[in-house]
Amino acid sequence: MKRNEIISQAEKVIATTYKRLPLVLEKGRGCTVWDVDGRAYTDFVAGIAVCSLGHARPEVARAICEQAEKLFHVSNLYYTIPQVELASWLVAHSFADRVFFSNSGAEANEAAIKLVRKYFHDKGEPGRHRIIAMDQSFHGRTFATLSATGQQRIREGFDPVLGGFEFVPFNDVAALRAKINDSVCAVMLEPVQGEGGVRCPDEGYLKAVRQLCDDSGIFLILDEIQTGMGRTGRLFAYEHFGIEPDIMTLAKALGNGLPIGAMLAREGVASAFKPGSHASTFGGTPVITAAALEVVRLLERENIIAHCRETGDYFKARLMMLKEKHDVIEEVRGMGLLLGMKLKENGAPIVNACLGKGFLINCIQEKILRFVPPLIISREEIDRLIACLDEVLQKGC
Ligand SMILES: *Cc1c(COP(=O)(O)O)cnc(C)c1O
Repeated sequence: MKRNEIISQAEKVIATTYKRLPLVLEKGRGCTVWDVDGRAYTDFVAGIAVCSLGHARPEVARAICEQAEKLFHVSNLYYTIPQVELASWLVAHSFADRVFFSNSGAEANEAAIKLVRKYFHDKGEPGRHRIIAMDQSFHGRTFATLSATGQQRIREGFDPVLGGFEFVPFNDVAALRAKINDSVCAVMLEPVQGEGGVRCPDEGYLKAVRQLCDDSGIFLILDEIQTGMGRTGRLFAYEHFGIEPDIMTLAKALGNGLPIGAMLAREGVASAFKPGSHASTFGGTPVITAAALEVVRLLERENIIAHCRETGDYFKARLMMLKEKHDVIEEVRGMGLLLGMKLKENGAPIVNACLGKGFLINCIQEKILRFVPPLIISREEIDRLIACLDEVLQKGC
């Protein structure tokens, strides 16, 4: 099937949930993807911060194949080796003691929300069930995670959403302090807001949030679905800020493109889940966990996080230089290879112009260009994007 045929067929049979660019992608390698006509694109989207090791990574493909030839699935009625190994790796490399595996980010957040409620229920404080989340947050599209998402645009049309969520502005310690009372069980936030516009925490903010949680005996849930697995230049973003959460959720880059989510927690709260409290048929299934295990091993073996830190700094400096030159750029922000460029006008024409020149970039919140390339991106690839952006912004579109 040719490009136009595929697109018109898709428009007939696929749910109308996505606004897609007219691009049919067929294969990828490293930071490049090719469409059905054989055109190459350098990918600064990486499946939205998912394919951190690059596309079609051969070592991960091999791990998938090897496991697939042994065992696809047996259910969580039994133990399997890759699941135990992956959980052990995550526990060894984080604050956490236990891991619950899910299939997606939203499901990892669902598990976190259920866990904190269950903890206080079991403690005889069922009234302590509210969660404070942030304006402009993004936690997923299921009902509970939608209810935790502080963006009206995303919640629109689905009322009544789940009760028990309150919102405060990100980076506002006083507003958070004012909302905490004895009906609150947790504070839930992204250490750097991703979908909300690549917004970083102010100096000392996360420490203050941690302190407030400690003082009131409630849990800190960090959604590191986008920031985790090296994206910000540390394995987990919390490491930058001198704090640890009680619960953390992961997904996006954990499987480098295979569907997996994880909810990690300290023993004190994790043990509120008893056999039967929560479950997922496909959670932690052998093929997916074998793939993720290879992903984390590669992250370590190839020193990818240090590379991310260095190239992220380089990329950000280059974007700052563009800002000096082009008045339309309002702000450059972000950490590691989670970078945003806020414009004074809509970003969609720029995304299209870059596409025409062979680059995939992403625009969020209408005016913010988001750059989340594979963590293995090279300086040379960054230079080529910068030259493209320079030209596109020069012309105006
Ligand atoms: C992408 C994302 C989610 C949702 O993950 P899904 O796998 O799409 O359910 C949740 N939180 C954050 C911070 C995300 O970036």
